[in-house]
Amino acid sequence: MYDYLIVGSGLFGITFARQAHDCGKSCLVIDKRPHSGGNIYCRETEGINVHTYGPHIFHTSNRSVWDFVSSLVEFNRYTNQPVAVYKGRLFNLPFNMNTFHALWGVKTPAEARAKIEEQRREAGITEPRNLEEQAVCLVGRDIYEILIKEYTEKQWGRKCCELPAFIIRRLPVRFTFDNNYFNDLFQGVPTGGYNRLTDALLSGIECRCNTDFFENRPYFEGLAERIVFTGKIDEYYGYRFGRLEYRSVRFETETLDTDNYQGNAIVNYTSAEVPYTRIIEHKHFEFGTQPHSIISREYSSEWAEGAEAFYPVNDEKNNALYRRYRELALREPRVIFGGRLAEYKYYDMDKVIESAMQAHGAI
Ligand code: UDP
Repeated sequence: MYDYLIVGSGLFGITFARQAHDCGKSCLVIDKRPHSGGNIYCRETEGINVHTYGPHIFHTSNRSVWDFVSSLVEFNRYTNQPVAVYKGRLFNLPFNMNTFHALWGVKTPAEARAKIEEQRREAGITEPRNLEEQAVCLVGRDIYEILIKEYTEKQWGRKCCELPAFIIRRLPVRFTFDNNYFNDLFQGVPTGGYNRLTDALLSGIECRCNTDFFENRPYFEGLAERIVFTGKIDEYYGYRFGRLEYRSVRFETETLDTDNYQGNAIVNYTSAEVPYTRIIEHKHFEFGTQPHSIISREYSSEWAEGAEAFYPVNDEKNNALYRRYRELALREPRVIFGGRLAEYKYYDMDKVIESAMQAHGAI
């Protein structure tokens, strides 16, 4: 018998396992994939760490989370500064004075604010009720049309007026010439790649890959006193109230005979004409100097059985369904549900770690 069976070796599961192990608890981590690390896993190809499940940039303002991860691995100085391409024009992200200047020719914060205020007034929105209204309120109609609307509809497969406002509030809006995508105090990518972080979190802990909890549920449930479940909560309950919706992403990856394809780790393609949402050039996360480069085009689609679930669709309908599953979960003291899929939450990595630390501290 183990103290904990941890289903899923993503950040929630392995942070929890690390904490429990360090407190003298025995843990078994299982994962249905052939590797550990969940979506932070990188596949090393020709000397480049390829972010197999999409770009991951660690950022946090929580000093204890930063101290925790920094005690395990070193972080480099990578700062995320994605750019967006719309019909041949290039703009800086997040929305800041560089973006406003490129779009409107404005040079001062006062001019930019006046432009946005004018467009917000024209739209007549006082209380934004959805992503579209929230975006127009924050940055005006022009930026909404060029940099948000079509990109968001590609990524989420839903109209902006049907999506929750909080999704667009993830992005800073700044009246300074600052292209840093995040406002957090600390930011970087582990030197040598994310697998080093996974390995450090799992050090000394038994982890079995290619092991699917649902293939032999009674056996696994009998292995430990308590279970930490990080998979899809609706699957855990046999979809008894119906299925939660998720978005999936797929990547077309190729090696190029150039040392620098796009000059940046992430370039978003915000127009509907381009079928992918963004191109990731992996070497730039680690300032790679290889003579070649690897890029991935990212395509978004609705999740279907057999694909990987990436993003919860936190609209009202799905949130209401999630709450029904959550009710069941609350009545199950032996099981801890955590992470993006089990909590049906659009979590960043630092928040997942924070939540796993809290879940462990609470028991
Ligand atoms: N977004 C956008 N245009 C962009 C980048 C982002 O409209 O060029 C919107 C989009 O709705 C997205 C949200 O902002 O879902 C949050 O973006 P973020 O970069 O945080 O998404 P993630 O990195 O988690 O995929």
